[in-house]
Amino acid sequence: MQQPASAGVTNHAIPSYLQADHLGPWGNYLQQVDRVTPYLGHLARWVETLKRPKRILIVDVPIELDNGTIAHYEGYRVQHNLSRGPGKGGVRFHQDVTLSEVMALSAWMSVKNAAVNVPYGGAKGGIRVDPKTLSRGELERLTRRYTSEIGLLIGPSKDIPAPDVNTNGQIMSWMMDTYSMNTGATATGVVTGKPVDLGGSLGRVEATGRGVFTVGVEAAKLTGLSVQGARIAVQGFGNVGGTAGKLFADAGAKVVAVQDHTGTIRNANGLDVTALLAHVAAKGGVGGFDGAEAMDAADFWGVDCDILIPAALEGQITKDNAGKIKAKMVIEGANGPTTTEADDILTEKGVLVLPDVLANAGGVTVSYFEWVQDFSSFFWSEDEINARLVRIMQDAFAAIWQVAQQHGVTLRTATFIVACQRILHAREMRGLYP
Ligand code: NAD
Repeated sequence: MQQPASAGVTNHAIPSYLQADHLGPWGNYLQQVDRVTPYLGHLARWVETLKRPKRILIVDVPIELDNGTIAHYEGYRVQHNLSRGPGKGGVRFHQDVTLSEVMALSAWMSVKNAAVNVPYGGAKGGIRVDPKTLSRGELERLTRRYTSEIGLLIGPSKDIPAPDVNTNGQIMSWMMDTYSMNTGATATGVVTGKPVDLGGSLGRVEATGRGVFTVGVEAAKLTGLSVQGARIAVQGFGNVGGTAGKLFADAGAKVVAVQDHTGTIRNANGLDVTALLAHVAAKGGVGGFDGAEAMDAADFWGVDCDILIPAALEGQITKDNAGKIKAKMVIEGANGPTTTEADDILTEKGVLVLPDVLANAGGVTVSYFEWVQDFSSFFWSEDEINARLVRIMQDAFAAIWQVAQQHGVTLRTATFIVACQRILHAREMRGLYP
């Protein structure tokens, strides 16, 4: 019997960079750069730097599946800008990963790292794969082959990956081990987000939620909103949303509604957040939690609250639901939860939006601490880490708030102004080589 030429090979998807719609999220990022260009003064001369990733590496990642067939996956590592330091940004394993998405995420990492003034450029990586379809052994082989393929670019002083969607401490451990085997020396600083026993940092798991809470408290002070008694609604009750919800509750706020992929619940008197976290840990989601009333998912956005924290996915606040939002403040825990149209609607309504590139920068800030600790092989206490994190987030918030007031712009535009000026100033001082 005649065999097809590709017998034994799965995953024949056309590479995304050959598809017509490859501009996608990268196109959105370019619009954001155009919005800040008028505020860049003489540095506008260098703005094209921000519109071109410095390096794009597309790799074929072949692995042998448990059933003996060979599967090929498309992987990427994009270094958007290295003017301020080595590349830094996570690795995403998801079936919808495209080059455009990785390019945009790498650029947003440049902005985020510059916004909180950690000495990194921006990078991001990903593999177009649904990891839930792989066995543990297949996932390990995929991670190790991908790490070897991008080994040309990464390294503790070159580009430092971290976890993102569907990647975690175990995957970082495999990446660290693979890089170390290939280079002949254990290099813990090649990735962050590692388990504490392998050079990870205390406080890293809660860092993003703690940053969300910190900027929320600072913004509340400046706008006369009392955190004590404030009503909070949270979408996504995982690492970011769960931690932020707990910290707000501990500070006297009431978490009145929570939505995740298993359900939407509310309690106008405030949910018992500690009990809810235990329920999520046991059941995998907020659905079925006692002490709350279930509600229709679509009604979540219209819940009576003072602070709304989207901490789940991209593109959740859209032109269709932004008008319903009653919160006075939105703190973006997720990356890209608000579409540009929705952002404009919220601004017109007078809702203060604390943008992702500022609000969720706590994670990369403690990743920076992890990297510093790995270099010196000297590890700090959790209190020390939290205190340093809070100070960096407070300072970044204050500087960005001042720029927003000075130019009469949103905090998103102000964050881009501060960050793009830092990146382009570094570019200008370094000059062009040769
Ligand atoms: P996580 O996996 O711990 O939690 C994700 C949460 O989103 C879960 O509660 C899940 O139920 C919920 N969710 C998933 N699909 C949903 C849906 N359709 N509707 C409502 N809820 C849904 O992830 P995380 O680490 O908390 O990340 C959340 C967001 O924060 C992501 O956008 C991520 O990129 C961003 N972020 C995370 C970090 C970090 O350090 N973890 C840092 C910066 C940004």
